[in-house]
Amino acid sequence: MSDHIMNTYGRLPVSFVKGDGCYLYDEQDQRYLDALTGIAVCGLGHSHPAVAKAISEQASTLMHTSNLYGIPNQETLADKLCELSAMDRVFFSNSGAEANEAAIKIARRYGHTKDIDLPTIIVANKSFHGRTLSTLSATGNAKVQAGFEPLVPGFIHVDYNDMDAIRQVANNNADIVAVMVEPIQGEGGLATPADSYLKEIRAFCDENNYLMILDEIQTGICRTGKWFAGQHSDIIPDVMTLAKGLGNGFPIGACLAKGIAAEIMIPGTHGSTFGGNPLACAAALATIHTLQEENLEQRAAELGSYFQQGFKTTLATLIEQGKILDIRGKGLMIGIELDRPCTELVKKALDKKLLINVTADSVVRLLPALITTDAQADEIIAIVSELIIEHTNA
Ligand SMILES: *Cc1c(COP(=O)(O)O)cnc(C)c1O
Repeated sequence: MSDHIMNTYGRLPVSFVKGDGCYLYDEQDQRYLDALTGIAVCGLGHSHPAVAKAISEQASTLMHTSNLYGIPNQETLADKLCELSAMDRVFFSNSGAEANEAAIKIARRYGHTKDIDLPTIIVANKSFHGRTLSTLSATGNAKVQAGFEPLVPGFIHVDYNDMDAIRQVANNNADIVAVMVEPIQGEGGLATPADSYLKEIRAFCDENNYLMILDEIQTGICRTGKWFAGQHSDIIPDVMTLAKGLGNGFPIGACLAKGIAAEIMIPGTHGSTFGGNPLACAAALATIHTLQEENLEQRAAELGSYFQQGFKTTLATLIEQGKILDIRGKGLMIGIELDRPCTELVKKALDKKLLINVTADSVVRLLPALITTDAQADEIIAIVSELIIEHTNA
């Protein structure tokens, strides 16, 4: 590996040079089954023809102009996202962290309209919101923050899935303007809250005129079996952020807002050179069109149940023995929590030509493509189960 790459990642000893559907190919043309999809990015699989075609056609027509001008693709994409989500307006960015920056700026500016000088956002422990200074400050993980102090002020952390903790902080603090959570904590071990949690946050924010901000960067775009995971709870947030699955690998993020939150930003308050350019929006439009055309929202829900059922069967003995603490998630966000650290399973799976991930040290995380076939799902279940059985009996 080149010494000229900044040393920010612990990388596995493999480089992929080609992708096709659920498969990736390394420099020796060896094939790997991908159950991670670039961390919930390539929902349609790799090199999807419809997305590739849209990108190449747009690239040879017009890649970039500027947000100084109208951008028809951006308008079409905003209309589409608002139709799917029942939100009102969209700000486009190039990444998830930037989408969250926009959400945080909306919350702060909203606070100032209410004459709150130090607007403060309630966020969750074990959350992940990104690596920029404000988003790492919002993130509830000391490892992400360490070495980058001073942190950006204006965030108070409470335990996830604990509504009383939110109430208690809010009762003691007149500066609260928003509550910001993930519907499922993707990086925080696939923590899946009680069904009532998001509904209760919604009601509490309504009562107190707080903005409810949902970080759907990982959960959005059909990943959990709905277009947006908040829809499982029948709620609409005031602000919602998207990124990972939106461009099927083309970098694009979005901050959606509704009602009063959608009117906070005015010309000059926020911006991005690249955000929402014709090329990025073409990729996202093709991604959304394909997801709809192939009814992959429903497929994600079905496949998710298939995986959960499969693992519950193959791992039944370990569940009984207490070596597996939980199998959880929604749709194609699947977490298998072991009673012990298991980070080495990532390398062991790679040796078996399967790409998986481990989060929070002891949770095997799968984020397969929405186009995964039943046969491929069976293969993933078999290999992962075998690795877990081997690991917990060692
Ligand atoms: C990945 C992720 C982010 C950060 O997105 P980037 O594109 O890496 O900046 C933020 N929030 C959640 C929930 C994520 O999963």
